[in-house]
Amino acid sequence: MTVTDLVSYEDALASYDPVMGLEVHVELGTKTKMFCGCATTLGADANAQTCPTCLGLPGSLPVVNAIGVESAIKIGLALNCSIAEWCRFARKNYFYPDMPKNFQTSQYDEPIAFDGYLDVQLEDGEVFRVQIERAHMEEDTGKSTHVGGATGRIHGASHSLLDYNRAGIPLIEIVTKPIEGAGERAPEVAKAYVAELRELIKALGVSEARMEMGQMRCDVNLSLRPNGTETFGTRSETKNVNSLRSVERAARFEIQRHAAVLSSGGTIVQETRHFHEEDGSTTAGRIKDNAEDYRYFPEPDLVPVAPARAWVEELRAALPELPRVRRNRLREEWGVTAHDMQSILNAGAVDLIVATIDAGAGSAAARKWWMGELARRANEDGVELSALAITPAQVARVAALVDEGSLNDKLARQTIEGVLAGEGDPDTVVEKRGLKVVSDEGALGAAVDEAIAGNAAIADKIRGGKVAAAGALVGAVMKATRGQADAARVRELILEKLGVEG
Ligand code: ADP
Ligand code: MG
Ligand code: ZN
Repeated sequence: MTVTDLVSYEDALASYDPVMGLEVHVELGTKTKMFCGCATTLGADANAQTCPTCLGLPGSLPVVNAIGVESAIKIGLALNCSIAEWCRFARKNYFYPDMPKNFQTSQYDEPIAFDGYLDVQLEDGEVFRVQIERAHMEEDTGKSTHVGGATGRIHGASHSLLDYNRAGIPLIEIVTKPIEGAGERAPEVAKAYVAELRELIKALGVSEARMEMGQMRCDVNLSLRPNGTETFGTRSETKNVNSLRSVERAARFEIQRHAAVLSSGGTIVQETRHFHEEDGSTTAGRIKDNAEDYRYFPEPDLVPVAPARAWVEELRAALPELPRVRRNRLREEWGVTAHDMQSILNAGAVDLIVATIDAGAGSAAARKWWMGELARRANEDGVELSALAITPAQVARVAALVDEGSLNDKLARQTIEGVLAGEGDPDTVVEKRGLKVVSDEGALGAAVDEAIAGNAAIADKIRGGKVAAAGALVGAVMKATRGQADAARVRELILEKLGVEG
């Protein structure tokens, strides 16, 4: 199907009601793999982090990673799930070259966490509750690289390379119940859900959840039913969508594609689909296996997982403040609008601003620098705010220098520029570049006298009561001091010396 075969989004929604299901895989940040002691460090040589267990060699035996289980419970608790008193791993049997055991150790009908929800906030502030069906533990597969073709796909390749370093890295799969009632906002809900889940995972400290690195990926299930009907339509499953924007686009595209197929009398096949970043389209993958085809059965080599209730309660009590609660608290503390808070979030500035405040800055100053000058610089360089070569403590120091009157705004910007250029701490930059505000009254007074002497006509006007003309003299003094004088103080001095009231 080409893009021109789509029904417009508005027309699709006029006839059909979307139902979605989101499956999110999160790669845990554990030091070792889920069922063996192999390291999980990124960037190692291919197959350097493997052993008989994660290569699936005969006779090898798996052992469960306790931190993996703990992370799964934390995620389950944060998603308001029930935690199983007793659950097992299961073998999901299928052949794929990047899965050396020919089965994936997963969980099937006995997940560690089930029946929860996550509240997500939409752009307009409305809160939408997404019901969670389950969160279960499993392992990642290896990675194949197809060599010799034009596309990097297996078709047309001359041979393939396999790297099993990723095989056996712990994954948590989080599956929603069918999401109904989002209507035209379904794509927005999908994006907001994945965004909120990512924040949650990061806050729990169980994974960095970086989508661009594949640490978190989302399958978008979508079906349409005629408006006003109950029965679900057949779903498609767009696999491994790896950015927030793509999640939204994939859902939107599938709504338009399903509507085109259905309204022309066609039927949707239950299949997986690939998402294409370039044009936001999806194309058919494989016809979807039914669960029966996987011949799931309980993993005989692993003991059941029966987390003690006391441990679960301990983990519950130690949960960090959840992102949405924290965001709302900070919004109140900072006194910013929902819209401003959204901009701060989008800029990835929340933690930086908090750290800057913790380092002693006022909240207004912290926000001003990160969302102003620094956001501008990050934008110019095309990097994230957190990648700028300046720390929250350094920003707090600049703010303190402004507060104590050592720097004015312009000098503060130059100081920041120096820090970003690697010239050292704010104090070092101020020293090296000679940026301190001239506050020595003697030096200032002399500069003012000079300006008055050099601009006799203007000085006369001011003496005659035209106070507004003082601006020109202030300008002259600022020029003479290379912008390093406190303009307000200069104005005071000028008026004082000319004997007029300000
Ligand atoms: P599978 O293993 O086939 O992907 P799962 O049950 O793990 O099946 O995930 C299916 C996802 O799709 C779940 O989030 C579920 O709520 C959702 N879902 C199920 N049926 C439909 C449907 N008809 N339309 C949209 N979403 C659906
Ligand atoms: Mg699935
Ligand atoms: Zn191993």
